[in-house]
Amino acid sequence: MNLIVQKFGGSSVADAGRLLRVSQIVREERDAGHDVLVVVSAQGDTTDELLQKARGTAKAPSQRELDALLSAGEQVSAALTAMTLEAQGIPAVSLNAWQLPIRSDTVHGDARIAEIGTGRVRSELEQHHVVVVTGFQGVDEAGDLTTLGRGGSDYTAVALAAAFGAERCVIYTDVDGVYTADPRLCPTARRLERVSYEDMYALSRAGAQVLHDKCVALAQEKGVEPEVRGTMPKSAGTRVCRVSSQRISGVTCREQSGDDLAAVTVVGRALPSLELEKRVILALNAAGIVVQGVDAVTGALTVYVKRGEARKAICLVHDAVI
Ligand code: ADP
Ligand code: ASP
Ligand code: MG
Repeated sequence: MNLIVQKFGGSSVADAGRLLRVSQIVREERDAGHDVLVVVSAQGDTTDELLQKARGTAKAPSQRELDALLSAGEQVSAALTAMTLEAQGIPAVSLNAWQLPIRSDTVHGDARIAEIGTGRVRSELEQHHVVVVTGFQGVDEAGDLTTLGRGGSDYTAVALAAAFGAERCVIYTDVDGVYTADPRLCPTARRLERVSYEDMYALSRAGAQVLHDKCVALAQEKGVEPEVRGTMPKSAGTRVCRVSSQRISGVTCREQSGDDLAAVTVVGRALPSLELEKRVILALNAAGIVVQGVDAVTGALTVYVKRGEARKAICLVHDAVI
């Protein structure tokens, strides 16, 4: 099947103007002769707003009801995307997890996709409809809605690309690809042309939000090569694929739960390295940041700093090792 999966994140579907841009991108692929399956996240900050609503309503809502609530965000977004496409003369249909179905286990809030039904989507594609699927949600054995973990629409996209043997799987977001550090925090970060599955997985696990970790693991298992690109014209993007790791692929950061520390992690095949470890600690100390702890393993170096110093630390560590 000559199918392209295109996933659009929350900021890419945030309002009518952004949805119009989505429809242009979809049209380009259709005009090039491809079938298109679109996966969408909830608009803008919808998921956070729904979580706040839940907290304002009940002290400890059950995970089941939280999932019922949060999955509504993607449903709204999928319907609005399909409406926008139709308004642009592109026949489209929105489908949610139970309509496919996207079957998952029962772990509410962090479910894993078990199986995807392909019949309904195939028949829609045969009728030359663009199929818009809700990201982030599944349906368990009992028929209850589940969610796949924050940022989980990336995982939906790769699972669909694998299930349908898609030719390409493009993850559209608000940055131009995967960078050596979050480009919003680190002005010297540079875009990676390619990144290995292993390094991308390590970066995702260590906090790089740009791709969900379960999405990267599944992509490697199924041989899907996700391309991360921006919705702006001529975005160069990054391909996640089977290549050898870079000396250093990137630096990322995650807040530690339970204390006031943040873990700043460097990922790459040059690690562990005492020389790089020294360079990192010296750069942080020179800026008055005290290193609270160090972990060195194959392919990664993590330094712990006070939470409030994490943003500054990412840039210092980045510039010390790249
Ligand atoms: P979406 O809503 O499209 O899924 P996300 O907010 O989940 O987008 O992910 C994109 C964001 O990831 C970027 O805006 C950027 O701030 C952040 N990010 C963190 N680390 C990186 C990195 N190494 N490369 C690119 N972006 C990164
Ligand atoms: N809307 C969900 C979230 O905010 C899923 C996603 O964006 O991928 O986490
Ligand atoms: Mg995301």
